[in-house]
Amino acid sequence: MPTARALPDVKDRLWKELALKAELITDGVGITQEALDLIRPGQGVQEQVHCLFEMDFDTHDFELPSGFDLPLGLSVPFRWNQRSDNVITAEGGRAILVHRGHAHGEVKFHPRPAYYGKTTSDGQDMSTVGALYQHRALFVAYSNECSYKDKGEDCLFCNINYTKDTYGEKRGIFWKTAGQIGETAAEAFREGLIDHVTISGGVIPERRELEYYLDVAEAIQSHTGREDFNGTAVVAAPLDLRQIDRFREAGYRTTAMNIEIWDKSYYDTICPGKARGGGGWDHWVKALKYAVGVFGHGRVRSNMVAGIEPKKKTVEGIHVLTGEGVVATAGIWCPNPGSELAGHRAPEPGWYLDLAETITAAWKRAGFTFEQVCDCNASSDTLQHDIWRIQDELLPVFAATDAALVEHAA
Ligand code: SF4
Repeated sequence: MPTARALPDVKDRLWKELALKAELITDGVGITQEALDLIRPGQGVQEQVHCLFEMDFDTHDFELPSGFDLPLGLSVPFRWNQRSDNVITAEGGRAILVHRGHAHGEVKFHPRPAYYGKTTSDGQDMSTVGALYQHRALFVAYSNECSYKDKGEDCLFCNINYTKDTYGEKRGIFWKTAGQIGETAAEAFREGLIDHVTISGGVIPERRELEYYLDVAEAIQSHTGREDFNGTAVVAAPLDLRQIDRFREAGYRTTAMNIEIWDKSYYDTICPGKARGGGGWDHWVKALKYAVGVFGHGRVRSNMVAGIEPKKKTVEGIHVLTGEGVVATAGIWCPNPGSELAGHRAPEPGWYLDLAETITAAWKRAGFTFEQVCDCNASSDTLQHDIWRIQDELLPVFAATDAALVEHAA
């Protein structure tokens, strides 16, 4: 039987699905009560966990799903927007995406992992310690506070402190201990769900940050029995760059320091804490270059929040950093509730697709492997990763038979 590879239009259809994904992330998606009753997030379907940021357009006091797969298999993180042109409804026992008034097809919500129903030895729900991301990644936000808040210098796009104040401990926002993280990572590995762990959080004084990250690495190693647990330490650029060596020695395979904004003037305005308290933009770039010397080419990541500064500035940053061996990337900006920029609007979905193509091309030109660009990112469920998957035919749909493909896309 011919495979999907032989079908000339598979890629065309995937590019269209990717454009839809860009729209669903940029503009969010609504969901009807009937659809929520059908999928029951937190039971059969994986629910959202509020780690770091509320990424929905509005806060909520009920469970929402974490994400879903489109008909050809591209996965979409669920960003709830009651005012979106796109709505998920229930029809005949299936969840259907209605795209601008027309039924687009069935979407499949991500199944709830078994460890979400388990607790750590001190009684904490594992779902609140580490969130399962698509493509086999565990994400741990050890704390939802950023010390820049004390001086009123939080980044203007960020709602980390607001998210904590809104949801609090009842919804799983608390300081995670190294032991809780080690146990949760071990369980997720044991269930065969992950092969990558990211540790992240708000900015805390750097000595405390270093010691904490070392404790966490040791706990993961001891609970999983893995010396190399494919961990990413997401940190603030330390003023003493030698601390970067310590993260590597502790067993993290990769590190990330997110510069957020490439244009220095925008940076001073949008990221006042980083600009003044974190050594400033020049120091951050210096730290990224230093980290490549420690962790290696393609083993250091830096993210930018795209859509605040002019695109050409973000693109300039992508090119400069990838040229230095840093996996520079940029995500779709969600003007998060509670942030200073709440109520602003992100650019058009096509703006982000264009940027994602530039990023994928820059990654390939820099000689990064797909494994590297996944390993150092907390989530590889991004447009730029999907572009790589489509270009290199890495998606399951490319191996499907004609019949299966028809079923997928029906
Ligand atoms: S450094 Fe900025 S983006 Fe990071 S947690 Fe603090 S305020 Fe948020």
